[in-house]
This record gives sequence, C-alpha cells and structure tokens, in this order.
Amino acid sequence: MDAEQFRKAGYAAVDEIIDYFTNLQSRRVASSVSPGYLRPLLPAKPPDEGEEWGDIQKDIEAKIMPGLTHWQSPDFMAFFPANSTYPSILGEMYSAAFTAPAFNWLCSPACTELETVVLDWLCHLLHLPASYLSTSATGGGGVIQGSASEAIVTVMVAAREQYIRRHCRLAVPQPASEVEAEDGEWRLRTRLVALGSEMSHSSTQKAAMIAGVHYKSIPVDVTDDFALTGRGLTEVLQDLTRRGWEPFYLTLTLGTTSTCAVDHFKEIAEVKKQFPDMWVHIDAAYAGAALLLEEYQELTDGFEAFDSFDVNMHKWLLTNFDASCLFLPCREPLISALTITPPYLQNDHSSSGLVTDYRDWQIPLGRRFRALKIWFVLRSYGVNGMKNHVKRHIGLGDVFANWVKDEGSDLFELVAPPRFALTVLRVKLPEEKKEKATTPFVMSKAATTETKVDEGLASNDIFPLPNEADRGRQIDTLTRTNAVTKEVYERINSNGDILLTSTMIKDCYAIRVVGANEQTDEQHLRKAFEILARTTEEVLRKLES
Ligand code: PLP
Repeated sequence: MDAEQFRKAGYAAVDEIIDYFTNLQSRRVASSVSPGYLRPLLPAKPPDEGEEWGDIQKDIEAKIMPGLTHWQSPDFMAFFPANSTYPSILGEMYSAAFTAPAFNWLCSPACTELETVVLDWLCHLLHLPASYLSTSATGGGGVIQGSASEAIVTVMVAAREQYIRRHCRLAVPQPASEVEAEDGEWRLRTRLVALGSEMSHSSTQKAAMIAGVHYKSIPVDVTDDFALTGRGLTEVLQDLTRRGWEPFYLTLTLGTTSTCAVDHFKEIAEVKKQFPDMWVHIDAAYAGAALLLEEYQELTDGFEAFDSFDVNMHKWLLTNFDASCLFLPCREPLISALTITPPYLQNDHSSSGLVTDYRDWQIPLGRRFRALKIWFVLRSYGVNGMKNHVKRHIGLGDVFANWVKDEGSDLFELVAPPRFALTVLRVKLPEEKKEKATTPFVMSKAATTETKVDEGLASNDIFPLPNEADRGRQIDTLTRTNAVTKEVYERINSNGDILLTSTMIKDCYAIRVVGANEQTDEQHLRKAFEILARTTEEVLRKLES
C-alpha cells in the first residue's frame, strides 16, 4: 500500500468506523455465531499476491462483524464497560504510526515524558496523595500497564522481593555459609502468602500463581456489603502468622467485580501499622473512575499508607483498551525487583539517573505509546467532560436501581447496594412476596451470626431464617431462586437485545446490570428493565403452569 492508497483506505476506514458508531443501536449487541464460524469463511492460506484494500474492507462487514459482540453498544450492560471514543482511536492511529517500543527514555523521549506528565495529571484528577506524583519526595510516580491484572502481577513481584530483602536476615540472622543463607531465603519464599478478599478479582489469585506464592482468600460478609473490613483482615493475619505463614501482599478493591463493594480502607490502613511490610495494592480497575468526582474523593484519604493503586482508563474513562494506570508512592521496590541491564540496553542517559526507563517498571521490555490516547482523551473531553460522563452513568444507575426497588419490587430483590452504575439483583419467588419485607438486601446482621447451615451453604447465607425447622425450606428456596434467576439471565442473553452478566455472591445466583457506555441513556436502561421484568414474568408463569 503506497501513500495515496493509504490516504484513500484510511478515509474509507474512518468513514466505516463513524458509520459503525452511528448505527450501533441497529445491531444485535451479542454475536450469535457458533464456535468455529470463521474458518470456513476464509481461505486455507493467505493470498500469494496482495489484495486491494476495497476487497479487504468488504470482509469486515461480511466476515468479522457477525462474530463481534458490540461492547460499545448502548445495550451492552455486561461485565464492566470498555469505552472507546474518537479521540482515543486517533491516539491509537498516531501510536501505530510512530511505533517505537520505548523501553528506555532514549528510544523516543516523548513517549516516556508524555506518560509521566499525563499520569501526574491523572494523579491530581483522581485525588491520589501527592506522594504518588512523579515529582514526590518519596520517589513516586505512575506507569501505564496493559491491564489491571498485569499491574497486580508486577506489584506482587515487587512486594515479594521487598519482603524477602527485609525478612531474610530475620529468618537466618547469622548464616554460617552462603548455602545456609540461601536455604533460609528459600524456606522464607515457600511461606509467602498473597491475600485478597473473597470478592477480589481473580487476577490476584492468578498473580500469585505466576509469582509462585500461596494465595489466601479472606471471607467477607453481607452485613459489611461484601467489603473487606479491618476486623476480618486482622483475624486472618493473626491466624496466618501464628501458623508461621508470611503474609506479604494484599489486594484491596475499590469497586469489586461482582457488586462494586469498597473495602474499608481506613480500618485497613490501621491494621497495616501492625504489618508494615505487607504491600497493600488498591485495585480500582473500574470504579476508580468515580474518584474524578468530589463526592467520592474522601475514599482516597489515607492512601498514603498503601503501596500501589491502579485504575483502568480502558473501562469507564473513554479510552480504548489498553490503558491501565498504575501509581506508586515509591517506585524503588518496583525498579529494584525488575531491573536487568545487559550491555545492549545501557546508555549515558540511563546511567545519568536523569531519565525514566519504563522498562524497569513493567514485565515486557517494549511498550506502546499509550500516553497519546490518554492525552487526546483528557484534552478532548476536558476534566468537566470526563466528570460529566461518570456522573451521568452513576445517576442512570440510581434510576435503574429505583425501578428495580419500586416497580420491580414484586419480581426482584437487590442483592447488594447499587453502586457506581452497577445494580445486582435476583428474582423473587411468588412465595417470598408474602414474607414480610426484611432488609433491602440479602440478609440481616442478626441472622448472619446465627445462621450456620451446612457445608453446602456458607455461614453467610442468603436467606437466613430463624430456626432449625426452617432450614430445609431455606435451602430449597435458595436453590429454586437461583434456578429461576439463571433461566431469566440465560433467556435474556440468548435473545441478545441486551447483554448482561451473571455472578455468584456467596450462594446466591445474581444478575449484574451496568450501563456505562458513552451512548447508553435512560431509554436503554428502561428497555433493559422492561426486558428483565417481561422475561421474569414469563419464567415465573412457566413455573406455575
Ligand atoms: N480488577 C477488577 C475489580 C475488575 O473488575 C477487573 C475486570 O473487570 C480486573 C481487575 C481485570 O481487569 P483487566 O482486564 O484490565 O486485567
């Protein structure tokens, strides 16, 4: 493709992308293809001679589009959003054009320097402590990672090495030989435990698998809205240390995947005083976006006590995948865990100590120029535009949750408090309507402590009933509610007019609804509510007949 052909093809591609966004609503949000649909549509081998762009472009609509799930659709209410916008697409275009895997500052100084500047901007906007700025006295700063999962693996490795450095001498105070010192270190390594709550994203457990450490999931309680508390953490830490384990790392979450719960940061900052060497990471992958808004910014009070924070601009912040922004109040543990400098990576700028080489802050060597799209988005929307985007969705989420609570009170029950535009609900069976309304959510505090059913149900049961005689009914109700909720969910998703996600919260099967795409409006959430209500009535009618 020469320059003139690219000009023509580029214009045609941009036209097609604009039409795609404009007409998204007319497409079924979920793909309905069967596994393996694509291979028969494509030749067995690539063409021997180059093809015209016009022929290639035609296959986007004919062959690729049927297999796409439209994450940008206003009817996409599954998982968490993955916003993509015109300014961020332009950022990708320039990034692709300049491709310079800028692992060292020297490779393309603008790539590094723009990243440092936009992450400092973001640090201010999200109200993170000043220590997380690149200019802080503690040597903090931010770096763009590919994903929140990658950020967790990266900081877990830094945490592991920092812990080993600090504790090795305690484990073997006066080694008689190098071998004895090494043995001591390896014994310590085998006792390392990374922690997350029962509601932490699975990426923490996966990071522990990759980092070669143990993983412990800390139970959370419905009475705490599924958040990790200082009390719950202390119990587990005391138990682990009594048994000789070394808890070296903890993920806290601002907006858990299932219910958008927020762990109790202030209490946990207090607990950390007793365990100063345990690295605490805040996973704010989705809901960290809400920190743009003043009303949520008190959540960051006390973040000085923690070791890292990560938010995905590629979820709710109008920037296409990938753009996961990791901040640390002190970059040294990351750099000392991840720096390897063979001769071919050495240069005078790196040795001068005056530049940042982001290769030392991440797993891969090469990196994309992702700061460009963040810069374009922040400048195109402005701070107010970004705030309005998040605020609008939170408002819409509240409207939706109120429909569920009011108009939908005979059909649904909220499983957790609605937060950050996410509503989590389950179906209410007809017989439950007759039971007196108890708590708005799944159970009451008194019931939590009293109810301990059997191995099949966790101690925090979803339908607590006061006495032994009712337990069989309790389990039966839970089983049937789960089955009905699941059927509603499966019918809706297989129909494909809207797309939702289900989850298990303790033993309760629940449906998550989160509408946070740029094009999502009240009419789309209303449509989702009506589909949910209609489908639930159909499933309940089938049950009665
Ligand atoms: N953390 C939380 C709370 C999430 O909800 C998710 C994904 O939804 C992740 C981490 C993983 O994000 P990523 O795909 O960027 O690794």
